[in-house]
Amino acid sequence: MKSRTGPNGVHLFDRLSGLNVLLDELRPEKAAWSTSPRQVSIALTNVCDLHCAYCYAPKHKASLHTDQVLGWLKELDNEGCFGIGFGGGEPTLHPDFVDICKRAARETQLAVTFTTHGHRLTPQLVEHLKGSIHFARISVDGVGRTYEKQRGKKFASLLRGMESIANLSPFGINVVVNEHTVAELDVISELAQKVGASELLLLPQQATTAVASMDKMVGRALQDWVSNYRGKVRLAVSEVGASGLPTCDPLPDERGLQSYAHIDASGVLRASSYSPAGVKIGDASVLWALKQLRNTVEIKRENQS
Ligand code: SF4
Repeated sequence: MKSRTGPNGVHLFDRLSGLNVLLDELRPEKAAWSTSPRQVSIALTNVCDLHCAYCYAPKHKASLHTDQVLGWLKELDNEGCFGIGFGGGEPTLHPDFVDICKRAARETQLAVTFTTHGHRLTPQLVEHLKGSIHFARISVDGVGRTYEKQRGKKFASLLRGMESIANLSPFGINVVVNEHTVAELDVISELAQKVGASELLLLPQQATTAVASMDKMVGRALQDWVSNYRGKVRLAVSEVGASGLPTCDPLPDERGLQSYAHIDASGVLRASSYSPAGVKIGDASVLWALKQLRNTVEIKRENQS
């Protein structure tokens, strides 16, 4: 089991079972707190073969270098990070995707996860990845025609992707919630149970240059649906855009950059993938960039108060 220390106590985590234990009787001094965020997401590439209107990934071409990513992962691992989530763009389009996952699992104690649209998950790719992935996420924005309109890909191909992912590791289903998908949450949750997903993550749609944020009417429908949810698959709601919906906050004092950070495909460290402020890591260490970003966030907070 890996451990990290923070304001809520000593936190133990096992990447194989997903077990978390918090020893909150212990309150380590601030100087002993782990310096890394608990979770870090990394956009390996901006490249994607789909063109979803609500995609927030930057549209310029950028991809990270394998050795640089591995260097960051080792640093984060040593400083108490628990897990890494590869995304993009479509992370499976990074030419070294398999190698990066294998090395991350072998050379660090991090839980290795990734988010995919699922259409490239061939049985061969799954075979190569087996043993290196601790959790995977697949995007399911609606079913049948709704899905095909949202993502421009055949729903039958997504179903094959879900079959593949079920052979790879425990997995969750991500749903962008908007005026098209909100009415299909029942059928998506039934599908999640049928295919063996262990989590259903709802992501209220965020504004892009092509679409507006989830509107109030959809927000109310989502609130009702969440309140009445009795499904068996664990439900989670993204903090971004949750607007009043309950979100899971097991470590209430471990906030902001202590709990999460994002590195984009140009190697810029940000508080989240939506955050405009960031620090280019370049040849420096990821922890140096984290310190700079914390200073920027604190200065901004002081100026606002
Ligand atoms: S599949 Fe994901 S990365 Fe690709 S366009 Fe759609 S939202 Fe963006």
